[in-house]
Amino acid sequence: MNRYLFLFILPLSLFSQAQKPKSIILMIGDGMGVAQIQSGRITKGAPLHLEKCSAIGFSFTHAADDFITDSGAGATAIAIGKKAKNGAIGVDAAEKPQPTLLELCEKKGKATGLVATSSITHATPASFIAHVPNREMHEAIALDFLKTDIDVFIGGGRKYFRNRSDQRNLLQELGSKGYQVKNNWEECSSISQGKLACFLADNGLLKVSEGRGSMLKDATAHSLGLLSKGKKGFFLMVEGSQIDWGGHANDAQYISSEMIDFDDAIGEALAFAQKNPETLLIITADHETGGFALQNGNLEKKTVEGAFTTGQHTGVMVPVFAYGPGAKQFIGLYDNTELFYKISALLDLK
Ligand code: MG
Ligand code: ZN
Repeated sequence: MNRYLFLFILPLSLFSQAQKPKSIILMIGDGMGVAQIQSGRITKGAPLHLEKCSAIGFSFTHAADDFITDSGAGATAIAIGKKAKNGAIGVDAAEKPQPTLLELCEKKGKATGLVATSSITHATPASFIAHVPNREMHEAIALDFLKTDIDVFIGGGRKYFRNRSDQRNLLQELGSKGYQVKNNWEECSSISQGKLACFLADNGLLKVSEGRGSMLKDATAHSLGLLSKGKKGFFLMVEGSQIDWGGHANDAQYISSEMIDFDDAIGEALAFAQKNPETLLIITADHETGGFALQNGNLEKKTVEGAFTTGQHTGVMVPVFAYGPGAKQFIGLYDNTELFYKISALLDLK
């Protein structure tokens, strides 16, 4: 090759490499609209970690069959790149199973993980690993965990693996598949390599205001430590599950405390992405919950006065924040399904 041409091409290829991530941390604040974020910021009395993301966009969240999405169709649209019917988990609008981002990353040899502050079989994490027409099929969703090679999962939902109508003990089966199955944080956090199935509750987890502690932040950091041991990168989805529950309860305090807790986990992910520049961090929501508005508040006293239009979800667009190589791809307004295609293109999936 002409040496001058070589000198020209080399920096170009280095540049394009720098714009492509090897690993993805996708963080979903369930029900996290802009008021939820701002309410967390005001009650914290300081900027949130997610404000370090300068690439910001918005996604439209409607379901295949409804103006307002549920968390199944919302997360499924992100996970498979196709709009789904409300309640659907990892299947398209015709109820046909479609490969998820997590599964496609596995196929590429990447390590994979799921973390949630709800049952790990709940709609949001389930949409990345399971394929069922209805989110209430928790036992079937639990079974799908055994059909993948997911490396780490941390959350509640032990009963769907252990106390099952088919009498199978999936905790044992996970053990036979090589998972270290642990049932409290002390044991989970002591695992420094290999596959980890970490069950922190029989069903859901406590509210952070009622004693969940720093579980989400710790689980995020711990998962990143385990997943980053592989050479080919990883895909980790972390959910702040209960921002949504605060919205359903029309409880501004519940929303704010869960928002700050989720942002603490974002702080861990950001610190990791800063140290590991081949990591792209994406933070978004599946939908807004409550029609939450900040009716009044006091910046000095760090209080907000919330108003709500509904106890359900709303159809308003939700924000997307990105940090790291490829972050600029997430600027703009687009359908939630586009998140799948943007991530797929950046990781060369399929
Ligand atoms: Mg959820
Ligand atoms: Zn909800």
